Amino acid sequence: MIVEGERGRVLVGRLAHGSDLVDELNRICAEKKIVAGRVEVIGAAQKARFGYYDQAEKKYGFREVAEPLEILALVGNISLKDGSPFVHAHVTLSDEEGRAVGGHLAEGTIVFAAEFHIEELTGVELNRVLDETTGLPLWG
Ligand code: ZN
Repeated sequence: MIVEGERGRVLVGRLAHGSDLVDELNRICAEKKIVAGRVEVIGAAQKARFGYYDQAEKKYGFREVAEPLEILALVGNISLKDGSPFVHAHVTLSDEEGRAVGGHLAEGTIVFAAEFHIEELTGVELNRVLDETTGLPLWG
């Protein structure tokens, strides 16, 4: 499927120290009523939690890294899930040695300092619905 929209508002800002990264992005989208768009974040995390989707088992496994990390890149999109704005993001992080890890961003990634950039997409409605083939909530 393909939809075509228009670029709407552009929001940039700083995420609160100690906030949960994905919860805070979802909160901002709900507060600003952004229901479609894209998001980028760079910064640093106090600790991180991210997932890997097991395609055979059709379920996520999660990994936690309980140490300070750089957020090298967070790339995500915004759409509707169960009627609310939902951020789906993937993240690449690095440790003190510059080693990179990453995956599907999950709750439990705590912000040390981070800057976000959100671009709204208008004129489209993207709803996540369960896809039987993959077991994932995909755009319908
Ligand atoms: Zn994902």
